[in-house]
Amino acid sequence: MANKCLSLVLHGGAGGLARDRDYAAEIAHMRGLVEAGRDRLAAGASALDVAMETVAALEASGLYVAGRGASPNTAGRFELDASLMDGRTRRAGAVAALEGFASPIRAARAVMERTPHVLLAGSGAAAFADAEGLERVEASWFTPVRPSTATAHSTGTVGCVALDETGALAAATSTGGTHGKLFGRVGDSPIVGAGCWADGRVAVSCTGLGEAFIRAAAAAQVSFRLGLAGQSLDVAADAVLADVGSLGGSGGLIAVSATGEIAAPFTTGGMKRAVLHRDGRITSEIF
Ligand code: ASP
Repeated sequence: MANKCLSLVLHGGAGGLARDRDYAAEIAHMRGLVEAGRDRLAAGASALDVAMETVAALEASGLYVAGRGASPNTAGRFELDASLMDGRTRRAGAVAALEGFASPIRAARAVMERTPHVLLAGSGAAAFADAEGLERVEASWFTPVRPSTATAHSTGTVGCVALDETGALAAATSTGGTHGKLFGRVGDSPIVGAGCWADGRVAVSCTGLGEAFIRAAAAAQVSFRLGLAGQSLDVAADAVLADVGSLGGSGGLIAVSATGEIAAPFTTGGMKRAVLHRDGRITSEIF
């Protein structure tokens, strides 16, 4: 039986976003992706396919600190992280510190579908992506998005959560990591349960200071609050960001529950995000 409550939320990163900058390109781009994702969900596409394709488009745009827009680490190298999770089965795939490929989220999906593993890292992840025939790129392909303010932990990530007509949930997250990160540093984005989670209750994608999100088990914590503490999605999402805050981190998350509830809170100056609401409205906002 078709589920009428299709849901889709995406983010393009939370951080200290400058208010005097023009975000028209990002706002229009995010809205277009939600419209396209809505149409695909309405035509019967799975939450997993829509979440992954939406993140792949965010990566390819160069508008966010993920994929093409990723920034280099302190060694001048582009190490990218991504993960995705299928809520129906809790199958998951991820890559960490992947160098030389256009779409980390496609590599993460291949890990999920074509290996017995969840997470491949570094040169092993790159060898696997190569063997899978994924698109290779040189360092010169990247067009790093610069921090829009001088705040110490300027960040940026992309993510998408979706609920499809079968009632299945999925989440996908991809990042270039935090600006000025050390060579070899891996954040929350490829860590299932930290930067990405989907199960039968909820799908979650996080953005912000990854170290705090890892220590809070942020994405999975949203689900456990719903399932074990009986909290509403709004209450759970806010409580998780408060927990992240207690560890010295800030950021945001997007979440959709199996009943179509949506949350997109953030504790930073802004979070690039777009939402397909239950009444069919689409909003695309930064602040
Ligand atoms: N969470 C990401 C990381 O720590 C960065 C971000 O979301 O901006 O790698």
